[in-house]
Amino acid sequence: MDNYGIVLENVNLKELSTINIGGKAKYLVRPFSYVDLGKLLDFLDDNNMQYYVLGNASNVILDDGYFDGVIIKLDEFNDIEIEGTKVTAGAGVMLPKLVNVCLQKELVSLAFFSMIPGTVGGSVVGNAGAYGHEIMEYVKEVKVIDKNHKIKTISKEDISFGYRYTSLKDNYIVLSVTFICEKGNPLEVLSEIQTRNEKRKNTQPLDKPSVGSIFRNPEDIPAGRLIEELGLKGTSVGGAMVSEKHANFIVNENNATFDDIIKLIDKIKKECKEKRNIDLVLEPTIVRWK
Ligand SMILES: Cc1cc2nc3c(=O)[nH]c(=O)nc-3n(C[C@H](O)[C@H](O)[C@H](O)COP(=O)(O)OP(=O)(O)OC[C@H]3O[C@@H](n4cnc5c(N)ncnc54)[C@H](O)[C@@H]3O)c2cc1C
Repeated sequence: MDNYGIVLENVNLKELSTINIGGKAKYLVRPFSYVDLGKLLDFLDDNNMQYYVLGNASNVILDDGYFDGVIIKLDEFNDIEIEGTKVTAGAGVMLPKLVNVCLQKELVSLAFFSMIPGTVGGSVVGNAGAYGHEIMEYVKEVKVIDKNHKIKTISKEDISFGYRYTSLKDNYIVLSVTFICEKGNPLEVLSEIQTRNEKRKNTQPLDKPSVGSIFRNPEDIPAGRLIEELGLKGTSVGGAMVSEKHANFIVNENNATFDDIIKLIDKIKKECKEKRNIDLVLEPTIVRWK
């Protein structure tokens, strides 16, 4: 596999995930180019090896057992090209970096996403959002590699998407994304966003390992308020705890395991169903190795 990029063996996934949970993976590969990635996928198919694509692992809860396969990380796909209001970013670019580069060119649209600790690939696949805006609003087209390892460009019109969802997920590997951004006054936008981000820092446990919001907001009540009303703030299972600061965050307080998190999620869901007849829906993806 050395021919296809940087290869690491026996990688501790816990260290890569924002909630600090995960087991070891046999390999992690960071391809240098689309061609490398295509060849790697051919090789994995030919050798009947499984793989999983990770961005910044900020929206996944990873099994802490052994993964006898290959984690693919697209960190090397990190170019940003700007032509007028058209911005094309590699799947591995982190959103805060993209926002900074855009603001330097007075392109302000993506600034809403400056606090999301995800990559362009992971964020577009999951239609990440903040402050009433979703990233798909600004997408023009997405370059992907499909199940037959063919590279193609899909325009926004051919992607179905909704709240934290796109039809790209599990069907394609995103290679790069082209956005159309509006021009504006970066200083004004920065000051507005900084005020909102400050508020977030004061109300969310951003200093502790987590995957951000754990449940979607049900129709009639924000998930955090519901969980708080049920008296679940501070509830813990093993090292996993419902944050005291914001009830829709589960934090890894003390070496939590995958099972601790899953049991705590189940406990919250059960209470919400029994006491308020509400079915909470999880936001992050739970990844179990086969
Ligand atoms: C402190 C904190 C705050 C957060 N705030 C927000 C917020 O305000 N709004 C919000 O929406 N989210 C938020 N999140 C959640 C998370 O950061 C976002 O969902 C982010 O967009 C996930 O990107 P990622 O690169 O980490 O994806 P990952 O977690 O690595 O992956 C998520 C999914 O996408 C898939 N994937 C990743 N890259 C690719 C690719 N290139 N091609 C195909 N599939 C891919 C993975 O297989 C996985 O299924 C927050 C998380 C934390 C920890």
